[in-house]
Amino acid sequence: MQFNDDAQLDTSGVQDARGGGMGRGGLAVGGGGLGLVGLIAVVLFNVLGGGGDGGGGLGGLSGLGQGSNPTSIDNSELSTECRTGADANERADCAIVADIDSVQSFWATALPREGVRYSKSPTVFFNGGVNTGCGAADSGVGPFYCPADRKVYIDLSFFEELRTKFGATGGAFPNAYVIAHEYGHHVQNLMGTSDRVDHRQSGPTSGAVRLELQADCYAGAWANHATTVPGANGRPLIENLTQEDIDAALDTAGRIGDDWIQSNLGSGGVDESKFTHGTSAQRQKWFGTGYRTGDPGSCDTFKASNLG
Ligand SMILES: [Zn+2]
Repeated sequence: MQFNDDAQLDTSGVQDARGGGMGRGGLAVGGGGLGLVGLIAVVLFNVLGGGGDGGGGLGGLSGLGQGSNPTSIDNSELSTECRTGADANERADCAIVADIDSVQSFWATALPREGVRYSKSPTVFFNGGVNTGCGAADSGVGPFYCPADRKVYIDLSFFEELRTKFGATGGAFPNAYVIAHEYGHHVQNLMGTSDRVDHRQSGPTSGAVRLELQADCYAGAWANHATTVPGANGRPLIENLTQEDIDAALDTAGRIGDDWIQSNLGSGGVDESKFTHGTSAQRQKWFGTGYRTGDPGSCDTFKASNLG
């Protein structure tokens, strides 16, 4: 996957709360930790995989991190460094900025076709821990969407973790798939889909699993259009996608399935009753469905009698 060197990035889709000035990627900087003690994370997180029940190996939702303070947002470095697709080809954080732009640009056109207006939502970059409209969270939960404040949250070190902890191939396009999945949850929020799901339920045919597989399918639908979705100056942000990129995304989808996580990062056994995201095969299947059709309308995992 290559970004178009001449495409223009729009950093307004990101709220950079990483802190730490020039020393990005160093220690997580505590945002003061004010008011963190005693806060309990609300359950309405939509994490990328596993988690949520303490058995997933992705950490618990109530983990109180050092707490990047979301009010200490400083986009100055991003807006200086991430101007064009060429920057996205150079820097990992600029690549994520480009992904966010591309995904939101896609939905701004695609969602109205489903009869719903799209409203943009930012992604918060944080280090270590963060306070959100859904409570406090630490990086252990992985990237997530908070319906209450309509923001995506990500500690960019997750992408390194995908390779080291999950054994994924990784790469620019799998990272984009992760971002597109989270924005899939934003779309579900705008469409009212997530409100109709009982988030306390788990299991192989639960609403939670159907919601997650639909977010994978939405990510695939974006991927189908990725090389034509325009950036801020009208040029497509993504220049090309190869079969290798698609395979790498499918590899990542396979590493964040409930069965894979339970088998490899949990206690070893597979307990279907705890499924919240679907199996690896199902996640790959639904990403593939979206990618093949390019049509969010093909992503009705709630009507599907056979999830795969
Ligand atoms: Zn999810």
